[in-house]
Order: sequence, then C-alpha cells, then structure tokens
Amino acid sequence: MTIPYHISDINSRDHQYVNEVIEQNQLATLGHYTQQCQQWLTEHAKTHKVLLTHSCTAALEMSAILADIQPGDEVIMPSFTFVSTASAVVMRGGIPVFVDVRPDTLNINEALIEAAITERTKAIMPVHYAAVSCAMEKIQDIAKRHQLMVIEDAAQCLFADYQGQRLGSIGDLGCYSFHYTKNVTAGQGGALLINNDALSARAQILLEKGTNRAAFVEGLVDKYTWVDLGSSYTMSEVNAALLWSQLQHSARITQERVSLWQRYYDGLQPCAVAGQLQLPIVPEGCAHNGHIFYVLLPSAQLRQPFMSALREQDIHTVFHYVPLHTSPAGQKFTRVQGDMTHTEELSQRLVRLPLWTGMGDKVDRVIDAVTKTCAQMG
Ligand SMILES: *Cc1c(COP(=O)(O)O)cnc(C)c1O
Repeated sequence: MTIPYHISDINSRDHQYVNEVIEQNQLATLGHYTQQCQQWLTEHAKTHKVLLTHSCTAALEMSAILADIQPGDEVIMPSFTFVSTASAVVMRGGIPVFVDVRPDTLNINEALIEAAITERTKAIMPVHYAAVSCAMEKIQDIAKRHQLMVIEDAAQCLFADYQGQRLGSIGDLGCYSFHYTKNVTAGQGGALLINNDALSARAQILLEKGTNRAAFVEGLVDKYTWVDLGSSYTMSEVNAALLWSQLQHSARITQERVSLWQRYYDGLQPCAVAGQLQLPIVPEGCAHNGHIFYVLLPSAQLRQPFMSALREQDIHTVFHYVPLHTSPAGQKFTRVQGDMTHTEELSQRLVRLPLWTGMGDKVDRVIDAVTKTCAQMG
C-alpha cells in the first residue's frame, strides 16, 4: 500500500455542512458560513478584521493593492517561496526583490533586508516556511524605521505562533491558505487578515469587485456603485461551509500533525547524528503547526536517488520550491539582491515526507524506510 504525500482530513460532518448549504439553497456569497468563518478567524488571530477569499493568492493580490504597489515599486521577499507571493506584486507592475534565506529556517534572512531597500521599496513580504516564523520582531522594526508595509505570507500558518502571537496577525496584513494541500481546507480558499485597521474599508471594497456594496448593506449609502479597483475575491459559500466544518476540528488536526512531526523528528535523530541528513530547526519563540516535515540531504545529487528509493518502498515524497529567481518568469519580472547561495543550495537538498492526520503508525514505516535508505546511500 502506497503512502501518499498528503490526504485531506475530511469526515462525515464536512459532508453534512456542504450538503446542507446546497439543500437549503443558501449559495449567496458572504452568507452565514462566510460570516461565521470570518468571525472565528478574527478571534483566533486576535485581529481587526478577516475577509475570506477564494485563495491565498487572492489575499496576496488584495494585499499588493492595499500596499499601493505602483509600476516600478519594489517589494522585498525570499526567492524560496510559492509563485503567488511574487506574482501578486508583478500583477501591479511592481518588482519582487529577492534576498537570500537563513540556513536554519529557510526563511528570509532579516539581516539582508536593509541592504535591499531603495527609494522604490514599498513593502516587505516575509514567508513563514513550514509555519516556522520569520524573525518578525526585527522585520517589524526595519519596516517601522523605513515606513514600509509588512505583508505576511502565512499561507501554511493557521495555529502557528511567534512569541504567543498568531502568524499572519503581526504585520499590517496576513494571508492564509485553505487549499486542499494545507492542514485545514476549504477545497480551495484563503483569508486576508487585516491587522492595520486603516486598511479595512478599502479591503472590503476590493473584495467586492471594487464596489461599496458593504456600505450599502450596512445602510451607510442608499445605492451601491463602482468606486475603486477590485475583483471577485470572495469565497464561494459552498467552500465556506466546508471550511466552517473544518475549523470545528482544526485544533485536533493541528495537534495530531504536530505529534506526527515530533515522531519524525525523534525517529530520524540517529540519521541526523550520523550526518546522513539534517532535520528542521525551530528557533526559540516559534510554535509551528506540523504543516511540513522536511529533511535536508547532504548533497543535491542524492535527492533523486533518495526519492526513487522511497518510491520503490511505496512512499511518496515531494520537494519544492524551485527558487523563483531561476524560473522563466522570475528572470523577466524580478531582481536579486546579493547572492542566493543558501536559497539555491538548500532548495536542491530538501525533501518533504508524507504527513497527514490518520497516518498513525505509517509514520514508523516511513522512518524505517528513510533510515534504511540513508544507510544504503552511505
Ligand atoms: C499554498 C501557498 C500559497 C498559495 O495558496 P493558494 O490558497 O493555493 O492560493 C502561497 N504561498 C505559500 C507560501 C503557500 O504555501
């Protein structure tokens, strides 16, 4: 029996909520389930306002508009991230400026940010890889001193904290994903966390295609009209019903994933001690949510044979990201500041192991297979 890389945690309650919203014909967007989820997330993150979106990508695109990115403006971010972090900026005519990552967390190296700031810099976009926080205290401090906006790509981060604060709630804006590959899912979905209340009113307008419909619904204007940029960024109510159900068991999902993560960490310790692979490092003050368990192999050349050997033992592993500055669009639309040694080197040595709720003792099968494979590769 193959152990897949990921299986979403879907149960009968999820079916019930989705069926209900269809049976009761309550499909209008911004309905009951959307409101419930938004309120839940607002309380969870202790923030001003949360808007559900159809994806994290949508939330990132809204953020780029809210940061007022104009053609030629620059945004500092890591190259080791998903496409959407950078494309949200490029869609406004802006230029992602990449700096290298830290070798311990694979997050943006905060010590390199200031050297990348120019007159055109508008924002910093930290990406919390594997839901382990970037050095947010330092990043917030740099942003304040240079009057830059901070947009957290917290796609992977529901339930993850930095010094007791939820990731996504620390910068001006934060973006969550509920894609089916994430811990908690709406099938596809996302959320924009608005931590700087001055941005709330405009965010609501962007969400609803650039109209002031929200003000109309609240009785603040007598008709609604087109007032600003915007798109159809809302989440479908069917997806919101699924998300609402998922949020009810999100704490249990997180707990189970963190404990699987810990079993990997403890079980693979001997391989780490033998120098056959490196395990993730979680700095002081960071509480992750078990989203990803990755290992770093001693060299890039070992990755393909390692993954193939596991494949032969019916274990499916994956890797990511191909650094964006090396991609065809990256070469066209972005700029690199300084050298990318860690980004290039680490991204080629990284392998993600299967991690999903319900995998139970299969985690031991993976640990055994990895241990055996490491020994064989010497
Ligand atoms: C998953 C992910 C995204 C994209 O999320 P969608 O909801 O699929 O748009 C963006 N950034 C990071 C770091 C991610 O992991």
